Amino acid sequence: MTHDTAILVPVDEALTRYDPVMGLEIHIELNTATKMFCGCPTGFGAEPNTQTCPICLALPGALPVVNAKAIESAIRIGLALNCEIAQWCRFARKNYFYPDMPKNFQTSQYDEPIAFNGFADVEVDGETYRIDIERAHMEEDTGKSLHVGGSTGRIQGADFSLVDYNRAGIPLIEIVTRTIEVPGDKAAAVARAYVSHVRDLIGGLGVSDVRMDQGSLRADVNLSLKPKGSTTLGTRSETKNVNSFRSVERAARFEISRHAGILDAGGTVLQETRHFHEDTGTTSSGREKSDADDYRYFPEPDLAPVSPSRAWVEELRLTLPEPPAVRRARLQADWGFSDLDMRDTIGAGALDLVAETIEAGTTPQAARKWWLGEMARRSNEEGKDIDALGVTPAQVAEIQALIDAGHINDKLARSVFDGVIAGEGTPEDVVVARKLEVVSDDGALGDAVDRAIAGDPDAAQKIREGKQAAAGALIGAVMKEMRGQADAGRVRELIIEKLA
Ligand SMILES: [Zn+2]
Repeated sequence: MTHDTAILVPVDEALTRYDPVMGLEIHIELNTATKMFCGCPTGFGAEPNTQTCPICLALPGALPVVNAKAIESAIRIGLALNCEIAQWCRFARKNYFYPDMPKNFQTSQYDEPIAFNGFADVEVDGETYRIDIERAHMEEDTGKSLHVGGSTGRIQGADFSLVDYNRAGIPLIEIVTRTIEVPGDKAAAVARAYVSHVRDLIGGLGVSDVRMDQGSLRADVNLSLKPKGSTTLGTRSETKNVNSFRSVERAARFEISRHAGILDAGGTVLQETRHFHEDTGTTSSGREKSDADDYRYFPEPDLAPVSPSRAWVEELRLTLPEPPAVRRARLQADWGFSDLDMRDTIGAGALDLVAETIEAGTTPQAARKWWLGEMARRSNEEGKDIDALGVTPAQVAEIQALIDAGHINDKLARSVFDGVIAGEGTPEDVVVARKLEVVSDDGALGDAVDRAIAGDPDAAQKIREGKQAAAGALIGAVMKEMRGQADAGRVRELIIEKLA
Protein backbone atom coordinates (compact mmCIF):
# COMPACT_ATOMS: atom_id res chain seq x y z
CA MET A 1 0.00 0.00 0.00
CA THR A 2 1.41 3.38 -0.92
CA HIS A 3 0.61 6.44 1.12
CA ASP A 4 -1.45 7.92 -1.74
CA THR A 5 -3.87 5.02 -2.02
CA ALA A 6 -4.65 4.79 1.68
CA ILE A 7 -8.30 4.31 2.55
CA LEU A 8 -9.67 7.57 3.90
CA VAL A 9 -11.31 7.41 7.31
CA PRO A 10 -14.18 9.86 7.90
CA VAL A 11 -12.87 12.69 10.09
CA ASP A 12 -15.39 12.12 12.89
CA GLU A 13 -14.43 8.48 13.10
CA ALA A 14 -10.69 9.23 12.92
CA LEU A 15 -11.07 11.60 15.88
CA THR A 16 -12.48 8.82 18.05
CA ARG A 17 -9.09 7.06 17.86
CA TYR A 18 -6.54 9.82 17.21
CA ASP A 19 -5.70 13.36 18.30
CA PRO A 20 -4.40 15.72 15.61
CA VAL A 21 -1.28 17.76 16.31
CA MET A 22 -0.71 20.74 14.04
CA GLY A 23 1.88 23.34 13.23
CA LEU A 24 1.19 26.28 10.94
CA GLU A 25 3.65 28.32 8.93
CA ILE A 26 2.55 31.51 7.26
CA HIS A 27 4.58 33.47 4.73
CA ILE A 28 3.71 37.13 4.40
CA GLU A 29 4.98 39.12 1.45
CA LEU A 30 5.66 42.66 2.65
CA ASN A 31 4.42 45.56 0.54
CA THR A 32 7.65 47.56 0.65
CA ALA A 33 8.25 49.63 -2.48
CA THR A 34 11.59 47.92 -3.05
CA LYS A 35 13.07 44.46 -2.48
CA MET A 36 14.70 43.14 0.71
CA PHE A 37 18.33 43.70 -0.29
CA CYS A 38 18.27 45.91 -3.42
CA GLY A 39 16.38 48.85 -4.90
CA CYS A 40 14.30 46.88 -7.42
CA PRO A 41 10.56 47.61 -7.46
CA THR A 42 8.16 44.98 -6.13
CA GLY A 43 4.94 45.61 -8.10
CA PHE A 44 2.81 42.54 -8.91
CA GLY A 45 2.23 41.43 -12.49
CA ALA A 46 5.07 43.21 -14.34
CA GLU A 47 6.64 41.70 -17.49
CA PRO A 48 8.95 38.83 -16.48
CA ASN A 49 12.51 39.78 -15.51
CA THR A 50 11.95 43.54 -15.74
CA GLN A 51 12.35 44.06 -11.98
CA THR A 52 15.83 42.69 -11.43
CA CYS A 53 19.36 43.95 -10.89
CA PRO A 54 22.81 42.46 -10.27
CA ILE A 55 22.02 42.06 -6.55
CA CYS A 56 18.77 40.07 -6.83
CA LEU A 57 20.20 38.13 -9.78
CA ALA A 58 23.24 37.39 -7.60
CA LEU A 59 25.79 38.43 -10.18
CA PRO A 60 29.39 38.11 -8.94
CA GLY A 61 30.51 40.96 -6.74
CA ALA A 62 27.04 42.34 -6.01
CA LEU A 63 26.54 43.33 -2.37
CA PRO A 64 23.15 43.34 -0.63
CA VAL A 65 21.93 46.06 1.76
CA VAL A 66 19.02 45.53 4.15
CA ASN A 67 15.77 47.41 3.47
CA ALA A 68 15.08 49.42 6.66
CA LYS A 69 11.35 49.55 5.95
CA ALA A 70 11.25 45.72 5.88
CA ILE A 71 12.90 45.59 9.31
CA GLU A 72 10.36 48.07 10.62
CA SER A 73 7.49 45.96 9.20
CA ALA A 74 8.99 42.79 10.69
CA ILE A 75 9.18 44.37 14.12
CA ARG A 76 5.60 45.64 13.93
CA ILE A 77 4.41 42.16 12.90
CA GLY A 78 6.36 40.65 15.80
CA LEU A 79 4.84 43.11 18.24
CA ALA A 80 1.31 42.53 16.92
CA LEU A 81 1.87 38.80 17.54
CA ASN A 82 2.93 39.53 21.14
CA CYS A 83 6.53 38.50 20.42
CA GLU A 84 9.76 39.58 22.01
CA ILE A 85 11.96 41.54 19.62
CA ALA A 86 15.61 40.48 19.34
CA GLN A 87 18.19 42.92 20.68
CA TRP A 88 20.54 41.70 18.03
CA CYS A 89 20.10 39.23 15.22
CA ARG A 90 21.67 38.16 11.97
CA PHE A 91 20.69 36.90 8.59
CA ALA A 92 21.78 33.41 7.60
CA ARG A 93 22.34 31.62 4.34
CA LYS A 94 20.07 28.65 3.76
CA ASN A 95 21.85 26.66 1.11
CA TYR A 96 19.95 24.67 -1.46
CA PHE A 97 19.72 24.56 -5.21
CA TYR A 98 16.60 25.69 -7.02
CA PRO A 99 16.51 27.15 -10.53
CA ASP A 100 14.30 30.05 -9.44
CA MET A 101 16.76 31.03 -6.72
CA PRO A 102 19.68 32.68 -8.48
CA LYS A 103 22.09 32.75 -5.50
CA ASN A 104 21.70 29.03 -4.74
CA PHE A 105 21.03 30.05 -1.20
CA GLN A 106 18.18 31.94 0.38
CA THR A 107 19.00 34.79 2.69
CA SER A 108 16.91 33.95 5.73
CA GLN A 109 17.22 33.83 9.50
CA TYR A 110 17.98 30.66 11.38
CA ASP A 111 18.77 30.58 15.09
CA GLU A 112 18.48 34.35 15.48
CA PRO A 113 14.98 35.41 14.36
CA ILE A 114 13.97 39.05 14.74
CA ALA A 115 10.85 38.11 16.76
CA PHE A 116 10.09 35.11 19.00
CA ASN A 117 7.91 33.77 21.85
CA GLY A 118 4.59 35.30 20.90
CA PHE A 119 0.97 34.20 20.81
CA ALA A 120 -2.32 34.81 19.05
CA ASP A 121 -5.77 34.25 20.53
CA VAL A 122 -8.28 32.98 17.99
CA GLU A 123 -11.97 32.40 18.38
CA VAL A 124 -13.92 29.40 17.12
CA ASP A 125 -17.59 28.86 18.00
CA GLY A 126 -17.35 31.35 20.84
CA GLU A 127 -14.31 29.65 22.44
CA THR A 128 -10.87 31.27 22.51
CA TYR A 129 -7.81 29.18 21.66
CA ARG A 130 -4.29 30.47 22.30
CA ILE A 131 -1.83 29.68 19.53
CA ASP A 132 1.79 29.99 20.65
CA ILE A 133 4.12 31.59 18.14
CA GLU A 134 7.64 30.23 18.12
CA ARG A 135 9.15 32.84 15.84
CA ALA A 136 8.67 35.36 13.07
CA HIS A 137 11.73 35.75 10.90
CA MET A 138 12.76 37.71 7.83
CA GLU A 139 13.74 36.16 4.53
CA GLU A 140 13.55 36.79 0.82
CA ASP A 141 11.20 35.25 -1.71
CA THR A 142 12.39 33.10 -4.62
CA GLY A 143 11.62 33.69 -8.29
CA LYS A 144 8.94 31.77 -10.16
CA SER A 145 9.31 28.85 -12.55
CA LEU A 146 6.88 28.34 -15.40
CA HIS A 147 6.82 24.87 -16.93
CA VAL A 148 5.67 24.99 -20.54
CA GLY A 149 4.11 22.05 -22.37
CA GLY A 150 2.59 19.00 -20.69
CA SER A 151 -0.91 19.00 -19.26
CA THR A 152 -0.37 19.69 -15.56
CA GLY A 153 1.85 22.77 -15.47
CA ARG A 154 4.29 20.70 -13.42
CA ILE A 155 7.84 20.01 -14.44
CA GLN A 156 7.04 16.37 -15.26
CA GLY A 157 6.10 16.20 -18.94
CA ALA A 158 7.03 19.81 -19.67
CA ASP A 159 8.92 20.67 -22.86
CA PHE A 160 10.90 23.45 -21.25
CA SER A 161 10.83 25.80 -18.27
CA LEU A 162 11.02 29.57 -17.97
CA VAL A 163 12.15 31.49 -14.92
CA ASP A 164 10.92 34.91 -13.81
CA TYR A 165 13.14 36.61 -11.20
CA ASN A 166 10.86 39.57 -10.52
CA ARG A 167 9.79 37.98 -7.23
CA ALA A 168 13.33 36.97 -6.22
CA GLY A 169 14.33 39.11 -3.26
CA ILE A 170 10.89 40.41 -2.27
CA PRO A 171 10.82 40.58 1.54
CA LEU A 172 8.95 37.84 3.37
CA ILE A 173 8.12 37.27 7.00
CA GLU A 174 7.70 33.66 8.00
CA ILE A 175 5.57 33.11 11.09
CA VAL A 176 5.94 29.70 12.73
CA THR A 177 3.67 28.40 15.48
CA ARG A 178 4.61 26.01 18.21
CA THR A 179 2.77 22.70 18.28
CA ILE A 180 -0.98 23.28 18.34
CA GLU A 181 -3.00 20.77 20.33
CA VAL A 182 -6.67 21.63 20.54
CA PRO A 183 -9.74 19.35 20.77
CA GLY A 184 -9.68 17.23 17.62
CA ASP A 185 -13.08 18.30 16.36
CA LYS A 186 -11.92 21.92 16.47
CA ALA A 187 -8.46 21.46 14.96
CA ALA A 188 -9.28 22.20 11.32
CA ALA A 189 -11.49 25.17 12.23
CA VAL A 190 -8.80 26.54 14.57
CA ALA A 191 -6.24 26.32 11.74
CA ARG A 192 -8.55 28.30 9.48
CA ALA A 193 -9.35 30.83 12.20
CA TYR A 194 -5.66 31.34 12.98
CA VAL A 195 -4.77 32.09 9.35
CA SER A 196 -7.76 34.41 9.11
CA HIS A 197 -6.72 36.11 12.38
CA VAL A 198 -3.16 36.67 11.16
CA ARG A 199 -4.49 38.02 7.86
CA ASP A 200 -6.69 40.57 9.68
CA LEU A 201 -3.95 41.50 12.11
CA ILE A 202 -1.31 42.10 9.46
CA GLY A 203 -3.78 43.70 7.08
CA GLY A 204 -4.51 46.14 9.90
CA LEU A 205 -0.81 47.01 10.15
CA GLY A 206 -0.77 47.98 6.49
CA VAL A 207 2.53 46.15 5.87
CA SER A 208 1.23 43.63 3.31
CA ASP A 209 -1.67 43.19 0.90
CA VAL A 210 -2.26 39.81 2.64
CA ARG A 211 -3.99 38.44 -0.48
CA MET A 212 -4.06 34.65 -0.34
CA ASP A 213 -5.30 34.47 -3.94
CA GLN A 214 -2.27 36.47 -5.14
CA GLY A 215 0.20 34.66 -2.92
CA SER A 216 1.05 37.58 -0.63
CA LEU A 217 -0.12 35.38 2.26
CA ARG A 218 0.66 31.67 1.95
CA ALA A 219 -0.01 29.02 4.56
CA ASP A 220 1.57 25.61 5.16
CA VAL A 221 -0.37 23.12 7.28
CA ASN A 222 1.75 20.58 9.16
CA LEU A 223 -0.27 17.78 10.66
CA SER A 224 0.27 14.49 12.42
CA LEU A 225 -1.93 12.16 14.42
CA LYS A 226 -1.20 10.42 17.68
CA PRO A 227 -3.30 7.62 19.13
CA LYS A 228 -5.58 8.90 21.89
CA GLY A 229 -3.81 8.83 25.20
CA SER A 230 -0.37 8.53 23.64
CA THR A 231 2.30 11.14 24.25
CA THR A 232 4.43 10.16 21.29
CA LEU A 233 4.06 12.44 18.28
CA GLY A 234 3.29 10.84 14.93
CA THR A 235 5.03 11.60 11.66
CA ARG A 236 3.86 14.85 10.09
CA SER A 237 3.00 15.85 6.57
CA GLU A 238 3.45 19.43 5.36
CA THR A 239 0.77 20.65 2.99
CA LYS A 240 2.35 23.64 1.25
CA ASN A 241 1.03 26.95 -0.04
CA VAL A 242 -2.65 26.46 0.66
CA ASN A 243 -4.27 29.52 -0.87
CA SER A 244 -7.56 30.21 0.89
CA PHE A 245 -8.93 30.02 4.45
CA ARG A 246 -11.44 27.44 3.35
CA SER A 247 -8.66 25.34 1.89
CA VAL A 248 -6.66 25.49 5.13
CA GLU A 249 -9.59 23.85 6.90
CA ARG A 250 -10.21 21.36 4.10
CA ALA A 251 -6.53 20.42 3.85
CA ALA A 252 -6.37 19.77 7.60
CA ARG A 253 -9.50 17.61 7.45
CA PHE A 254 -8.24 15.66 4.47
CA GLU A 255 -4.90 14.96 6.13
CA ILE A 256 -6.66 13.73 9.30
CA SER A 257 -8.61 11.26 7.13
CA ARG A 258 -5.57 10.18 5.18
CA HIS A 259 -3.24 9.72 8.16
CA ALA A 260 -5.91 7.74 10.03
CA GLY A 261 -6.33 5.43 7.03
CA ILE A 262 -2.60 4.71 6.91
CA LEU A 263 -2.28 4.23 10.68
CA ASP A 264 -5.39 2.02 10.90
CA ALA A 265 -3.89 -0.25 8.24
CA GLY A 266 -0.66 -0.52 10.21
CA GLY A 267 1.19 1.59 7.64
CA THR A 268 3.77 4.31 8.08
CA VAL A 269 3.08 7.96 7.35
CA LEU A 270 5.82 9.40 5.18
CA GLN A 271 7.40 12.67 6.23
CA GLU A 272 6.91 14.70 3.09
CA THR A 273 5.54 17.87 1.60
CA ARG A 274 2.13 17.66 -0.06
CA HIS A 275 0.14 19.74 -2.54
CA PHE A 276 -3.49 20.66 -1.90
CA HIS A 277 -5.94 20.45 -4.82
CA GLU A 278 -8.77 22.96 -4.71
CA ASP A 279 -10.98 21.05 -7.12
CA THR A 280 -11.02 17.74 -5.25
CA GLY A 281 -10.21 18.88 -1.71
CA THR A 282 -7.42 16.29 -1.58
CA THR A 283 -3.65 16.42 -1.20
CA SER A 284 -1.01 14.62 -3.22
CA SER A 285 2.59 13.74 -2.54
CA GLY A 286 5.21 16.43 -3.11
CA ARG A 287 8.73 15.67 -2.08
CA GLU A 288 10.04 13.53 0.71
CA LYS A 289 11.55 15.43 3.56
CA SER A 290 13.49 14.66 6.67
CA ASP A 291 14.43 16.64 9.74
CA ALA A 292 17.99 15.96 8.76
CA ASP A 293 17.71 18.07 5.58
CA ASP A 294 21.02 19.83 5.72
CA TYR A 295 20.78 23.41 4.56
CA ARG A 296 24.25 24.23 5.91
CA TYR A 297 23.00 27.41 7.49
CA PHE A 298 25.70 29.90 8.32
CA PRO A 299 25.63 33.61 9.20
CA GLU A 300 25.43 35.87 6.14
CA PRO A 301 28.84 37.55 5.87
CA ASP A 302 27.68 40.27 3.46
CA LEU A 303 25.06 41.81 5.77
CA ALA A 304 25.54 43.68 9.03
CA PRO A 305 23.67 42.28 12.05
CA VAL A 306 20.36 43.96 12.91
CA SER A 307 20.12 45.50 16.37
CA PRO A 308 16.99 47.60 16.72
CA SER A 309 17.22 50.05 19.63
CA ARG A 310 14.70 49.56 22.45
CA ALA A 311 13.53 53.12 21.93
CA TRP A 312 12.70 52.39 18.29
CA VAL A 313 10.87 49.18 19.22
CA GLU A 314 8.78 51.10 21.76
CA GLU A 315 8.08 53.81 19.18
CA LEU A 316 6.84 51.13 16.79
CA ARG A 317 4.70 49.57 19.51
CA LEU A 318 2.81 52.84 19.70
CA THR A 319 1.93 52.56 15.99
CA LEU A 320 0.04 49.28 16.47
CA PRO A 321 -3.69 49.41 15.85
CA GLU A 322 -6.00 48.45 18.73
CA PRO A 323 -5.76 44.73 19.57
CA PRO A 324 -8.22 42.54 17.65
CA ALA A 325 -10.30 41.57 20.72
CA VAL A 326 -10.71 45.23 21.72
CA ARG A 327 -11.60 46.21 18.18
CA ARG A 328 -14.17 43.41 17.90
CA ALA A 329 -15.85 44.45 21.14
CA ARG A 330 -15.94 48.09 20.01
CA LEU A 331 -17.38 47.22 16.59
CA GLN A 332 -19.99 44.90 18.09
CA ALA A 333 -21.19 47.67 20.39
CA ASP A 334 -21.17 50.27 17.58
CA TRP A 335 -23.09 48.02 15.22
CA GLY A 336 -25.54 46.60 17.75
CA PHE A 337 -24.71 43.04 16.66
CA SER A 338 -25.66 40.08 18.86
CA ASP A 339 -22.89 37.68 19.94
CA LEU A 340 -24.16 35.26 17.32
CA ASP A 341 -24.12 37.90 14.54
CA MET A 342 -20.57 38.76 15.49
CA ARG A 343 -19.47 35.13 15.62
CA ASP A 344 -20.98 34.48 12.19
CA THR A 345 -19.32 37.59 10.77
CA ILE A 346 -15.89 36.57 12.06
CA GLY A 347 -16.44 32.94 11.08
CA ALA A 348 -17.24 33.99 7.51
CA GLY A 349 -14.03 36.03 7.35
CA ALA A 350 -16.20 39.09 6.75
CA LEU A 351 -15.36 41.37 9.69
CA ASP A 352 -13.32 43.86 7.68
CA LEU A 353 -15.68 43.66 4.73
CA VAL A 354 -18.67 44.50 6.93
CA ALA A 355 -16.69 47.28 8.64
CA GLU A 356 -15.69 48.86 5.33
CA THR A 357 -19.24 48.59 3.96
CA ILE A 358 -20.55 50.41 7.02
CA GLU A 359 -17.83 53.04 6.68
CA ALA A 360 -19.05 53.55 3.11
CA GLY A 361 -22.44 54.58 4.48
CA THR A 362 -24.50 51.39 4.76
CA THR A 363 -26.39 50.50 7.95
CA PRO A 364 -24.88 47.62 9.99
CA GLN A 365 -28.01 45.53 9.38
CA ALA A 366 -27.83 45.95 5.61
CA ALA A 367 -24.08 45.30 5.52
CA ARG A 368 -24.61 42.14 7.55
CA LYS A 369 -27.49 41.03 5.32
CA TRP A 370 -25.42 41.16 2.12
CA TRP A 371 -22.16 39.72 3.41
CA LEU A 372 -23.62 36.94 5.56
CA GLY A 373 -26.49 36.21 3.18
CA GLU A 374 -25.85 36.67 -0.52
CA MET A 375 -22.04 36.81 -0.40
CA ALA A 376 -21.63 33.91 2.06
CA ARG A 377 -23.91 31.82 -0.15
CA ARG A 378 -21.85 32.60 -3.25
CA SER A 379 -18.65 31.92 -1.33
CA ASN A 380 -19.92 28.44 -0.41
CA GLU A 381 -21.25 27.68 -3.86
CA GLU A 382 -18.10 28.76 -5.64
CA GLY A 383 -15.68 27.43 -3.06
CA LYS A 384 -13.98 30.82 -2.78
CA ASP A 385 -13.13 32.94 0.22
CA ILE A 386 -15.65 35.72 0.67
CA ASP A 387 -13.07 38.43 -0.06
CA ALA A 388 -12.10 36.78 -3.34
CA LEU A 389 -15.55 36.91 -4.95
CA GLY A 390 -14.81 40.08 -6.89
CA VAL A 391 -17.21 42.35 -4.96
CA THR A 392 -15.84 45.20 -2.84
CA PRO A 393 -17.40 46.79 0.25
CA ALA A 394 -17.79 50.04 -1.74
CA GLN A 395 -19.84 48.18 -4.36
CA VAL A 396 -22.06 46.58 -1.73
CA ALA A 397 -22.62 50.03 -0.23
CA GLU A 398 -23.49 51.41 -3.68
CA ILE A 399 -25.97 48.60 -4.34
CA GLN A 400 -27.65 49.18 -0.98
CA ALA A 401 -27.84 52.91 -1.78
CA LEU A 402 -29.61 52.07 -5.07
CA ILE A 403 -32.12 50.01 -3.07
CA ASP A 404 -32.63 52.78 -0.52
CA ALA A 405 -33.25 55.25 -3.34
CA GLY A 406 -35.93 52.93 -4.78
CA HIS A 407 -34.05 52.27 -8.04
CA ILE A 408 -33.82 48.51 -7.46
CA ASN A 409 -35.09 46.03 -4.88
CA ASP A 410 -33.33 43.21 -3.00
CA LYS A 411 -34.24 40.67 -5.65
CA LEU A 412 -32.89 42.78 -8.51
CA ALA A 413 -29.77 43.48 -6.46
CA ARG A 414 -28.80 39.83 -6.97
CA SER A 415 -28.61 40.42 -10.73
CA VAL A 416 -26.55 43.54 -10.04
CA PHE A 417 -24.07 41.40 -8.06
CA ASP A 418 -23.95 38.95 -10.99
CA GLY A 419 -23.08 41.81 -13.33
CA VAL A 420 -20.45 43.33 -11.05
CA ILE A 421 -18.77 39.94 -10.61
CA ALA A 422 -18.90 39.38 -14.38
CA GLY A 423 -16.95 42.61 -14.83
CA GLU A 424 -19.78 44.64 -16.37
CA GLY A 425 -18.78 47.79 -14.49
CA THR A 426 -20.10 49.67 -11.48
CA PRO A 427 -23.43 48.67 -9.91
CA GLU A 428 -25.03 51.67 -11.62
CA ASP A 429 -23.58 50.60 -15.01
CA VAL A 430 -25.04 47.12 -14.48
CA VAL A 431 -28.50 48.48 -13.57
CA VAL A 432 -28.53 50.51 -16.81
CA ALA A 433 -27.02 47.84 -19.09
CA ARG A 434 -29.25 45.06 -17.78
CA LYS A 435 -32.33 47.33 -17.61
CA LEU A 436 -32.89 46.42 -13.96
CA GLU A 437 -34.39 49.64 -12.72
CA VAL A 438 -37.62 49.24 -10.78
CA VAL A 439 -40.67 50.64 -12.59
CA SER A 440 -42.59 53.06 -10.38
CA ASP A 441 -44.10 55.14 -13.16
CA ASP A 442 -47.90 55.12 -12.69
CA GLY A 443 -48.61 54.89 -16.42
CA ALA A 444 -46.74 51.61 -16.95
CA LEU A 445 -47.82 50.21 -13.58
CA GLY A 446 -51.47 51.25 -14.08
CA ASP A 447 -51.74 49.34 -17.36
CA ALA A 448 -50.30 46.21 -15.76
CA VAL A 449 -52.65 46.59 -12.76
CA ASP A 450 -55.65 46.87 -15.11
CA ARG A 451 -54.63 43.67 -16.86
CA ALA A 452 -54.17 41.88 -13.52
CA ILE A 453 -57.63 42.97 -12.35
CA ALA A 454 -59.19 41.82 -15.63
CA GLY A 455 -57.37 38.50 -15.35
CA ASP A 456 -58.56 37.70 -11.81
CA PRO A 457 -62.12 39.01 -11.30
CA ASP A 458 -62.60 36.91 -8.13
CA ALA A 459 -59.70 38.59 -6.33
CA ALA A 460 -60.84 42.00 -7.61
CA GLN A 461 -64.33 41.38 -6.19
CA LYS A 462 -62.96 40.44 -2.79
CA ILE A 463 -60.94 43.65 -2.63
CA ARG A 464 -64.04 45.67 -3.58
CA GLU A 465 -65.72 43.97 -0.62
CA GLY A 466 -62.92 45.23 1.62
CA LYS A 467 -60.78 42.07 1.81
CA GLN A 468 -57.48 43.79 1.16
CA ALA A 469 -55.50 40.60 1.79
CA ALA A 470 -56.67 39.44 -1.63
CA ALA A 471 -54.44 42.13 -3.18
CA GLY A 472 -51.48 39.74 -2.85
CA ALA A 473 -52.60 37.67 -5.81
CA LEU A 474 -52.93 40.76 -8.03
CA ILE A 475 -49.56 42.17 -6.89
CA GLY A 476 -48.01 38.80 -7.71
CA ALA A 477 -49.50 38.90 -11.21
CA VAL A 478 -48.16 42.41 -11.84
CA MET A 479 -44.68 41.49 -10.52
CA LYS A 480 -44.67 38.43 -12.75
CA GLU A 481 -45.63 40.41 -15.82
CA MET A 482 -42.96 43.01 -15.05
CA ARG A 483 -40.28 40.42 -14.30
CA GLY A 484 -39.95 41.49 -10.67
CA GLN A 485 -39.15 45.07 -11.63
CA ALA A 486 -42.32 46.77 -10.37
CA ASP A 487 -42.35 48.90 -7.23
CA ALA A 488 -44.49 46.55 -5.14
CA GLY A 489 -45.62 49.23 -2.69
CA ARG A 490 -46.90 51.47 -5.45
CA VAL A 491 -48.61 48.51 -7.17
CA ARG A 492 -50.57 47.78 -3.97
CA GLU A 493 -51.64 51.42 -3.70
CA LEU A 494 -52.82 51.47 -7.32
CA ILE A 495 -54.85 48.27 -6.89
CA ILE A 496 -56.60 49.62 -3.80
CA GLU A 497 -57.24 53.00 -5.47
CA LYS A 498 -58.73 51.39 -8.58
CA LEU A 499 -61.00 49.02 -6.65
CA ALA A 500 -62.01 51.28 -3.75
ZN1 LIG B 1 17.34 43.84 -7.52
